[in-house]
Amino acid sequence: MAFPKCAITRVTLILAGAAGLWVAWAQQQPRPALTIEKVTENLWVIVGNGGNVAVMPTSEGVIVVDDKFAEDAPAILARIKTITDKPVRYVLNTHHHGDHTGGNAAMLAANAEIILSRNARANMVTGNQSGLPHLTFSDEQQVFLGGKQVVAKYLGRGHTNGDAVIYFPAERALHTGDLFVTPGAPFCDTANGGSIKDWDATIQKVLQYDFDIVIPGHGPVSKKADLVKWVQTLATVRARIKAACAGGVGDAAKRIDLKDLGMGAGGGLFDRGVPGMCQELAQ
Ligand SMILES: [Zn+2]
Repeated sequence: MAFPKCAITRVTLILAGAAGLWVAWAQQQPRPALTIEKVTENLWVIVGNGGNVAVMPTSEGVIVVDDKFAEDAPAILARIKTITDKPVRYVLNTHHHGDHTGGNAAMLAANAEIILSRNARANMVTGNQSGLPHLTFSDEQQVFLGGKQVVAKYLGRGHTNGDAVIYFPAERALHTGDLFVTPGAPFCDTANGGSIKDWDATIQKVLQYDFDIVIPGHGPVSKKADLVKWVQTLATVRARIKAACAGGVGDAAKRIDLKDLGMGAGGGLFDRGVPGMCQELAQ
């Protein structure tokens, strides 16, 4: 499972229209099967297609973070059934993108409540996405269920203007959504308020939390040290973007090489974010 494969090669996201409508569709090749992996004693992750899904079973029901694409919902529910017979009660979305919120409508139909940041819900409305949540928050939302606590926190702009980090205090773990991906290049969705200027400052705030384990938006489960390194990576990438933009925005993406950072030549979603990042860095 690797970010570039599942999020860039297998799935193409295009920006359609001035309003920033995101349309996602699968390419023709078969999608990878979803698998569930144990992260800690009380936390699992479902990997495969789309964004990583965190699963915390409790005695009163299941707390889930993100729900991939719409067509993944049955498989997500089936994987959860292998670890608990309790229903999904809450789904916390890290942000609005369709590879993290696609299963929302199915989760609502299964009587789960969806929670995401106010900005992210507004982005879903703009993008005409289905599965809109009933509940939002501006700063923080805590969920207490079956003796477990989960915290959704908005810490600032980065991948979009509505990314929440989901913290599992007792597990010393957090799910970053696409504020952190590995080993992919950072995709800055400037059409939805993303900021390459603020991104590493937002991660610095994430690092104030007490944790050891990081579930990235895409890619293998990582450690706090990997997130520390990501701050420097973002600064390096930003400097290269700025230099490339100086030679003209139109073909700036072609002049950005991220191979030495383990990110190939960028490409795909990263490239799509470049004009917007140039614009932001010129201000
Ligand atoms: Zn995303």
